[in-house]
Amino acid sequence: MLVVGNWKMNLDLAAARQLSSAIAASIGPLDTVDVGMCPPFVALDAVFAVLHGTGIRLGAQNMHEEEGGAYTGEVSASMLRAVGCHYVILGHSERRQYAGETDQTVSKKARKAREHNLVPIVCVGESLPQREAGTHQAVVEKQVMESLSGVDCTHASELVVAYEPVWAIGTGETASPQQVADMHGHIRRLLEHLFGRAVGSGIPILYGGSVKPSNAQELFNQPNVDGGLIGGASLRAEDFLSIVNAARR
Ligand code: PEP
Repeated sequence: MLVVGNWKMNLDLAAARQLSSAIAASIGPLDTVDVGMCPPFVALDAVFAVLHGTGIRLGAQNMHEEEGGAYTGEVSASMLRAVGCHYVILGHSERRQYAGETDQTVSKKARKAREHNLVPIVCVGESLPQREAGTHQAVVEKQVMESLSGVDCTHASELVVAYEPVWAIGTGETASPQQVADMHGHIRRLLEHLFGRAVGSGIPILYGGSVKPSNAQELFNQPNVDGGLIGGASLRAEDFLSIVNAARR
């Protein structure tokens, strides 16, 4: 199981140090669960210093698809590696919505991330109108196939997929366990098709969308749910730790 916190555009440097320290101090053994933390770019270095030696892995929330150069305001894969990142979240629905990211840019980014030995956490998920129209499986299938097109993955540990229905992100509304199980099963079949059964069957598929201490256990018990991508609840040490504990059982 894998639990990753996505801090989004929250917490200044002091607060980032405080939260990562509080989580690291109480995380306990990491033998049955992997844990990641994705602070904003400016806090990566400081949080890495806190996490170093704890087993909790650092991740970024985005990166640019090019190697480097004249891309003002952007951050490259090698820069993320240099500050200790293991994961990078790609194609989060907020980036698809506010920064115009497409499956094609996500695929370029994921390929570049792999070249630099970063583990991409590729996010997919349908909107409310798409869910209501019954096109959610087709929408997610297209996102998975196109976002992962050309991505090199020969070991299951080299890639993570996060299913995050847009209507459940930050809304307090969670997909039902059945909805989650159905979509995760569908994504599993796509991963096995793309990367072969041996690799595709082991790629972690995280659920994201208003996961909290009260619903984590039930969601994590669903087939093909290998953990969670946690937004709001990752900003409170107690809640995040309780979600990590739910993944342990
Ligand atoms: C997210 O943005 O990745 C997320 C799952 O957010 P929340 O947990 O706040 O819904």
